[in-house]
Amino acid sequence: MEDKKTNILLIYTGGTIGMVKDYKSGTLRAFNFKKLVQHIPELHQLDCHIETISFEQPIDSSNMNPSHWVMIAMIIEEHYESYDGFVVLHGSDTMSYTASALGYMLENLSKPVIFTGSQLPIGDLRTDAKENLITSIQIAALRERGRPVIQEVGLYFEYKLLRANRTTKINAEHFEAFQSPNYPPLAVSGVHLKINKEALLPRKRIKRLVVHKKMDSNVGILKMFPGLAPGLLKNMVSTPELKALIIETYGSGNAPEEQWLTTILKEAIAKGIKVVNVTQCVGGGVLMGQYQTSQQLKKLQVISGNDITTEAAITKLMYLLGAGVSGKSFKTVFETSLRGEMS
Ligand code: ASP
Repeated sequence: MEDKKTNILLIYTGGTIGMVKDYKSGTLRAFNFKKLVQHIPELHQLDCHIETISFEQPIDSSNMNPSHWVMIAMIIEEHYESYDGFVVLHGSDTMSYTASALGYMLENLSKPVIFTGSQLPIGDLRTDAKENLITSIQIAALRERGRPVIQEVGLYFEYKLLRANRTTKINAEHFEAFQSPNYPPLAVSGVHLKINKEALLPRKRIKRLVVHKKMDSNVGILKMFPGLAPGLLKNMVSTPELKALIIETYGSGNAPEEQWLTTILKEAIAKGIKVVNVTQCVGGGVLMGQYQTSQQLKKLQVISGNDITTEAAITKLMYLLGAGVSGKSFKTVFETSLRGEMS
C-alpha cells in the first residue's frame, strides 16, 4: 500500500528552543536535535514522517546574518522536492527578520515554511516549546485535495500562525512574543485548528521554486527622535557603501519640517540612495501628505513603506538591491506587495 504520510523537514538553527536545562547545575545546554523524535514522544503521534537537519553550530539568533539566511534557503532548495513542508526552529530575537528575508528569497513557494521557537527551552517543565513545535509540524503537514494548505512563510508562536513578513517581536518575557499588527492571523489553534482561508496568499499555479541568494546589506535604518542632530544623518548618508536608508518616522510618516532634514535627504536621493519611509508605530502605516509634516518627504519622492514592518522593509531592500533593481523602477517595485508584506 502506498505510504500517504506527509514528509516534514525540521531545520534546527539554534535559539532557546533547542536547549535543555541541566537540573543539577541549573545551566542551559544545546540539545541534540538529531535525537529530537526520541526525546519528544508526542511527535510519534503525528501522522507524518519527520526528519531533522541541524546547523553544524546552532546559534543564538542575535548572531544571524544574511549568510545564515542563505544557508536556510539552500537547505530548503536542496530538499524541496522530497518534503511536503518545512519547519524552521529559530531563536525568537531575530526570527521576524530571517522569516521575512526567506519569504523574498523563496520565489514561487508553494509549500509551507513555518518558523517557530520558544521563550523557554524544550527541556523546561513550563516550556512553550512543545506546543509551538507540535502545532507548527501539524500546520506544515496540512493538505487539501493533495496540495498544502499553507503555501507561504509563516511564523507560529503561542497558538497563532502569522504571516511571517507581517510580524514583529513585541515581548521578551511573555509567551506571546510576536504580533502581526496590520494583518490577521492565518490560523488560530484552540480546541480546533482554525485556518483563516481568506487571509492566506492565493493558491498559485505550481511554478519552479526560484531561490534568490544575493542579499545586499548596504542598507541602514535611522529612527527619528525629537532632538535628532543633522550631523548624525549627514554621517549616515555619506557612508560610501550605503545604497538605501529606512527612516522610521512618527505616526503616519511624519518628520520635522526643518530645512536641514529636507536638504540632506534631497542630496542623498540625488546621489542614488533609496530613502524609505516606515512608521515607528507598531500598527498602521505611512500616508505621506496627510499632515503638513510629511509633505516635504512626499515632494522628495521618498518611497512609502505603507504598513510594512521595519523587519520586512529592511530585508526587502536587501533583496531588491541584491536582485539589481535600480533606477526609477525601484520605488514602484518597493511600493508593490511582493509576498503579502503590505496592504
Ligand atoms: N536569544 C535567543 C535567540 O534569539 C532567544 C530565543 O531563542 O527566543 O536565539
